[in-house]
Amino acid sequence: MTIASNLGFPRMGQHRELKKSLEAFWAGKITEPELQKTASDLRARAWNEQQARGIHHIPSNDFALYDQILDAAALVGVVPKRYKSLPDTGLSRYFAMARGHQSQGIDVPALEMTKWFDTNYHYLVPEIAEGETFALSSRKPMEHFQEANALGIKTRPVLIGPVSFLLLAKKDGAQLLRLLDNLLPVYEDILSQLGGAEWVQIDEPCLVLDLSNEARTAYQRAYERLAKVAVSPRKLIATYFGALGDNLDLACSLPVAGLHIDLVRAPEQLEAVANTLPKDRYLSAGVVDGRNIWRNDLDASLKQLQKIAAIRGTDKLIVAPSCSLLHSPVDLATETKLDAELKSWLAFATNKLDEVAVLAKALDAGHTDFPAFAESRNVIQSRAKSTRVNNPSVASRVKSLTGAMSKRQSAYPSRREAQLTLNLPSFPTTTIGSFPQTADVRSMRANYRSGKTDAKTYNTFVASQIQEAVKWQEEVGIDVLVHGEFERNDMVEYFGEQLDGFAFTENGWVQSYGSRCVKPPIIYGDVSRPKAMTVEWSAYAQSLTKLPMKGMLTGPVTILQWSFVRADQPRATTCQQIAFAIRDEVSDLEKAGLRIIQIDEPAIREGLPLRRSEWKAYLKWAVECFRISASSVQDSTQIHTHMCYSEFNDIIEAVGDMDADAVSIETSRSKMELLGAFADYKYPNEVGPGVYDIHSPRVPTEDEMVDLLRAAAKVLNPNQLWVNPDCGLKTRSWAEVKPALVSMVKAAHRVRAEL
Ligand code: GLN
Ligand code: ZN
Repeated sequence: MTIASNLGFPRMGQHRELKKSLEAFWAGKITEPELQKTASDLRARAWNEQQARGIHHIPSNDFALYDQILDAAALVGVVPKRYKSLPDTGLSRYFAMARGHQSQGIDVPALEMTKWFDTNYHYLVPEIAEGETFALSSRKPMEHFQEANALGIKTRPVLIGPVSFLLLAKKDGAQLLRLLDNLLPVYEDILSQLGGAEWVQIDEPCLVLDLSNEARTAYQRAYERLAKVAVSPRKLIATYFGALGDNLDLACSLPVAGLHIDLVRAPEQLEAVANTLPKDRYLSAGVVDGRNIWRNDLDASLKQLQKIAAIRGTDKLIVAPSCSLLHSPVDLATETKLDAELKSWLAFATNKLDEVAVLAKALDAGHTDFPAFAESRNVIQSRAKSTRVNNPSVASRVKSLTGAMSKRQSAYPSRREAQLTLNLPSFPTTTIGSFPQTADVRSMRANYRSGKTDAKTYNTFVASQIQEAVKWQEEVGIDVLVHGEFERNDMVEYFGEQLDGFAFTENGWVQSYGSRCVKPPIIYGDVSRPKAMTVEWSAYAQSLTKLPMKGMLTGPVTILQWSFVRADQPRATTCQQIAFAIRDEVSDLEKAGLRIIQIDEPAIREGLPLRRSEWKAYLKWAVECFRISASSVQDSTQIHTHMCYSEFNDIIEAVGDMDADAVSIETSRSKMELLGAFADYKYPNEVGPGVYDIHSPRVPTEDEMVDLLRAAAKVLNPNQLWVNPDCGLKTRSWAEVKPALVSMVKAAHRVRAEL
């Protein structure tokens, strides 16, 4: 019988119960037992839900109070020295590692956080010390297995595999293989202690990455050794987010009972894996997309499964989501505002489990006489034909794309000449766009959205905020002003809500990190712009001053990257459609008299594919989309872009190809080090290296900023440089922002006089 399985379930709860409980606990409003009660209730609900939906292999230990990799570090005793002064009882050390700790004379920062592969989930990076000795230091996998057992549910505990764990950690120079030998005894111990489980799922997502020879050897050594554990559950190695590629033979040769592969991201590997994996192994086929929200094309998935069955039979076949459902919202049933048609196109975590279960049933039954198949067919057909999805004028516009559309009229040197009429001083000062989103601003917007405040009152309020911001910027002597983005909730949502082809959910929350969740917009159809989106406020702001006002837009790649994207056409095509919409907005801003327009692309780098061989193709279309959006304007109109991260070595050429007149970046923490990439590349256009770390409440001094600017002027030509903060100021308070920007302007004046 074909096995229906799951790799992981969302932990937050349908109504973000975990978030609320965590935050109440941190605020001292509830006790630890109360928090743990919420957590165990959520686990019980998830297990019952999965069982009720016909899942045979139900995961446990996929739950984490904060992060599963932090839990893995805690499991094997990887606790950096700085946390050891905190008591190991209760949760204080755990949350200190997650969030930092500042009280009772102890002041320790949190572990570093980084993106989990190419998802928007962030994990805490374990810090492994030079001579790290690992030791079994928590019983969570065993306890959660028992907890489910007590409810009558046999689960498949999930562990992060030893090799991925080490590859994803910060290793302080220590060698992977040496660490592995220290770590494996702990895994042996865990496996024997999980002896009561039939299966254990060992996640080794690093098998879809480019691996060094050392890493490949580590895989062989690790699993050969773990194969010798006398009493152990059967091991299923789980890979996801991409193809095994050149690691296919390696993965298929590991001495374990089963292998899970992602057939949504990498359907092309189906036959090779089905043929290569020894026939006595279980193959887990990830055919239901675990990280997007579209309803499955059940006929197509069934065909994939039948192909595998034809090669290997069905007695060792497992049907699964492509990856853990952690990356998917919980339940569609709580969406009350989506119209029925659109809703019928979607599947959240619980719906995905139904899809997995019915696929297993259909494969065994040899027919598709199940209501779910009929529904799936209807949906696929209705979507393919829907006029809400297909807008012929958008399609024809994308088709008419010519090379000239992604090129400015002249090369940068001529544009620079044409832009001299802006009359900017050297080291011009500006900010990245947003000003503090005060409680006032947020509550006004919330009231307006809920209908409590009428449009007139709201608009008057926004106008007054803009007036104040403009007046203040003039007073302190900033050269290029911004309107402050007071009308915007979120830099993607604000645009998505005004574009056709986007939908928004009420509860489509996905965990981003810890208690933080995001609600990505859904791009379901061809994207177009019914009318101008930002012109009114930007033109209003410009009318208040003689100084140049920057128009503020979010770029096409960032809008794409932070949304759930339709899967029925290439991402590049969807991105081009968004690019045209932004292009029209840019033209309208120019017509309205804005002479500087900033198109933010903070997400370009995070869109990089996991495999280096695919970077070039991605960067090509990503850069082209930015250029489509930026290139309709006159030479005299200055285009800025903004990216908030500090690693440019990998993508500096692409940044050059974007050909923005000026790019602002985050540099203050790295002390201008990253400018090296710009200098080595001989970046010809203008650069605004951030001199004010906006992620910290600290107000930088004038001297510090002068030093940073001097350092920048050493590696780049002084007349290329702008002076600005690292990023937007919306998370800061005016009490911090005002003195910081006053000092920033003074610093610019000093450097101007000096150089
Ligand atoms: N213009 C945006 C702001 O200032 C940019 C935000 C970002 O880069 N994430 O808020
Ligand atoms: Zn930024």
